[in-house]
Amino acid sequence: MSAALIDGEAIGQRIRDEVKAATARLEQTKGAAPELAVVLVGEDPASQIYVRAKVKNTQDAGMRSHAHRLPADATEEEVIALVARLSADPQIDGVLVQLPLPKHIDEARVLAALDPAKDVDGLTEASAGRLLLGKPGLRPCTPAGCVILARTVTRDLAGAHCVVIGRSILVGKPAALLFLEQNCTIAIAHSRTRDLPALCRSADILVAAVGRPEMIRGAWVKPGAIVIDVGINRVPAPELGPGKDGAPKSRIVGDVAFAEAREIAGAITPVPRGVGPMTRACLLRNTLLAACARRGWPVPPGFEG
Ligand code: NDP
Repeated sequence: MSAALIDGEAIGQRIRDEVKAATARLEQTKGAAPELAVVLVGEDPASQIYVRAKVKNTQDAGMRSHAHRLPADATEEEVIALVARLSADPQIDGVLVQLPLPKHIDEARVLAALDPAKDVDGLTEASAGRLLLGKPGLRPCTPAGCVILARTVTRDLAGAHCVVIGRSILVGKPAALLFLEQNCTIAIAHSRTRDLPALCRSADILVAAVGRPEMIRGAWVKPGAIVIDVGINRVPAPELGPGKDGAPKSRIVGDVAFAEAREIAGAITPVPRGVGPMTRACLLRNTLLAACARRGWPVPPGFEG
């Protein structure tokens, strides 16, 4: 029997609707709505698409959105100055720096200029420290989305064995800590892990954040497991025929061989329409939470934990 599909698009939409309703209530009762600033440096096509989607989602939720675009040759000091200015602006509740930044800019230095109270991506050292310490704070959006998706299958994840493949600061490490917060037993796998297939087969929850198309095979999946595929990989798709430029078209696949894994897993996220939409939904959620914390507003019902 094939696994249940975890519909990230529908679940993300539900979160966006809840944020929109809470924002409307704040507008009525407090006379203000949360404001999110997005900083984009350069012309990276994927980043431009992500930023456009984030700005649209923010506006659709009834929040104010400010997009700040700097040219690809902007200096590190210019980017830091902009982030510092937005951090100091009392009107702005959240600041998102779209990554990756151009190679000549040190991301760590830019993030160091960001007020942790406005760190809606959960990427500053302060946010990472709060996560490690188990203190409340703004959690990284993609990993937070993974936990929400897993909990739509099984609300109580306590005791589940969760294997996270990937140890990046953006996804793997925070995902592991967030599943630990849910009382899972966690293992973090990486490129030096021995016998990865066997480790994966022990996972009740398997989170793939590797960046290698369809690396995780169906035979690596424990029967009935929850599989969360974070990967976004563009691969050539000659079966779709040539594109406008004559080159073969491409398609997006995850890190999991979906068709194989679906035959074994209990529930699985597709790519696209799995984790991706949750990243944007969690960004809105964080912007709402950041606004409430900064402005002394009570956290809206349903957004407490
Ligand atoms: P990174 O490249 O930063 O990290 C990849 C991780 O995978 C590393 O820890 C690496 O190990 C590990 N790895 C690489 N090869 C292997 C292997 N053969 N066996 C086991 N582990 C391996 O990627 P990110 O964490 O930033 O992103 C991962 C994926 O998630 C990408 O496809 C990215 O596009 C996608 N992504 C999706 C998002 C979404 O919204 N859906 C958001 C962010 C990312 P080591 O540390 O040893 O090198």
